[in-house]
Amino acid sequence: MKKNTIVIYPLLALVLFSTTGCVKLNCPLPQDLNKTVKKETLASSSSSADIKRNSWSMGDLCANRISFYDRGQKWNLLLVRNTKQPQGPFWYLPHDNENSALDAAVYATKKYGGGFLAVEANGNRYAAGKDPNRHFNPSSTYTKTVFKIIDTFRKKGLPYLTLHSNKEGHKKYGGEGTVSMRVSSSKTRSYPAGKIEVGKKEGLKDEDSLVYLAGKSIDQQKISALNNMGVNVKYELVNHSSNDKSMSNYIALHKSNYGYVNIEAEDGDSGTQKKMIDKVMKLIYQGRL
Ligand SMILES: [Zn+2]
Repeated sequence: MKKNTIVIYPLLALVLFSTTGCVKLNCPLPQDLNKTVKKETLASSSSSADIKRNSWSMGDLCANRISFYDRGQKWNLLLVRNTKQPQGPFWYLPHDNENSALDAAVYATKKYGGGFLAVEANGNRYAAGKDPNRHFNPSSTYTKTVFKIIDTFRKKGLPYLTLHSNKEGHKKYGGEGTVSMRVSSSKTRSYPAGKIEVGKKEGLKDEDSLVYLAGKSIDQQKISALNNMGVNVKYELVNHSSNDKSMSNYIALHKSNYGYVNIEAEDGDSGTQKKMIDKVMKLIYQGRL
């Protein structure tokens, strides 16, 4: 080993330790949330696989595990907040198997403030046999509670935001978690920013990199704003008879003046998803999304 490597390695370790800090667990919740949800205890950062995987980069973000019941089913969720900058975008992550989306949410929360809420289901897409993103209807406790939490932290004027990871490739006839720019229908239309690449981690051009919008009618201005930034768009036309009880459909039908932006990237490619977050946040703060 050269003499200078002996000096550099301890220095590097010192720099890393002094900048990373340590994630805070079990932080106090705002008063009115205490009646809505129960605080569960996170014994350590290893009590959640998502926190354990990200603890090196979470700095002093705050993490809570919270729970509530809806018709006998217990829902567990991870709530992560930037308490230094509590006002900011707030993201919903319904699928616990989409790890790279959660890693991107940590990045967004550190950079832009706000926070995120993620369903916990032992690393699975389904929680107790149910898809958490096919469970939104106006009368359910699940819907009311999830929106109560989101609206406690979401900065006024910002749209509802979600993050998903997309499995590589596409399946023409269904296939969960396989949304792709290459599949288009009259109900869910594809608006590519340019040439679509098919393969592993093709960045913004990948068939799996897309911003998913939804509404009762096409919003060409939002589509063009994203396309001009090099971002692919899928736009779902929603009406009451085709309602699939996803969050996108719920917002299009019941909260349409707030807007909905869902950033999807290929599973494992949180790098591209972070780039998309930066582009989307730029457009949001310009009032164009
Ligand atoms: Zn998903």
